[in-house]
Amino acid sequence: QPSPSRTPGPRCYGSAPPELQEKTLVLVKPDAVQRRLVGTVIQRFERRGFKLVAMKLLQADRGLLDKHYQQLQQKPFYPALLAYMTSGPLVAMVWEGYNVVRSTRAMVGDTDSAMAAAGTIRGDLSMHVSRNVVHASDSVETAQREISFWFQRDELVAWESGDRDYTYG
Ligand code: ADP
Repeated sequence: QPSPSRTPGPRCYGSAPPELQEKTLVLVKPDAVQRRLVGTVIQRFERRGFKLVAMKLLQADRGLLDKHYQQLQQKPFYPALLAYMTSGPLVAMVWEGYNVVRSTRAMVGDTDSAMAAAGTIRGDLSMHVSRNVVHASDSVETAQREISFWFQRDELVAWESGDRDYTYG
């Protein structure tokens, strides 16, 4: 648990306890970029209180996606998934915060948009599993691996946010 109430005040980077520095990879997929949903997706994670530590717009290539979706390469839908994910630019982001992997998955919702609960990103913004707006890492270990596929180490920005005592108590 984060430590109990402290007096708010200025902090230097690195002072956050490790559990507040958990990171996850989020991709705003090409359908969402085309539909001008990038800001909406970012806003949801910002409003929750997570901290953005890396972000870029890029055109993904097959090599990167083969690594990212290594577990899915034998699936019948994999060629269509590759075509979708390379169809236009996407936005890759790293978000940081307490339990960010689990919370982000909950905010994203079911893989199959038709089953995704209202209030989740997919449940609110997507109609079909093949155009489901976002990716979010499914475990802390997966997140570490995925972040290393999409970002160089020096692309992650170390910064201390001033709201920590108000976000975590
Ligand atoms: P998630 O993205 O929720 O972690 P998976 O890792 O199982 O889900 O699948 C990765 C992505 O592959 C999905 O987000 C979706 O874009 C695509 N996908 C999964 N299942 C299907 C399917 N049956 N048909 C088309 N695309 C699919």
